[in-house]
Amino acid sequence: MAICPECEAPLDIEDEQVKEGQVLDCPECGAELEVVSTNPLELDLIENDEGEDDEI
Ligand SMILES: [Zn+2]
Repeated sequence: MAICPECEAPLDIEDEQVKEGQVLDCPECGAELEVVSTNPLELDLIENDEGEDDEI
């Protein structure tokens, strides 16, 4: 279980379903969330700035 950092909605995500660097959409507020840690599961809000960073 994780919490959306934008709207604090509980997200029904198992840590086994995601990996670090994966991007998810919050079903409640539509925010883009990046998985920054899987143990414990932690999400970080992705700001919609212009331009996107490519994965390295
Ligand atoms: Zn949200």
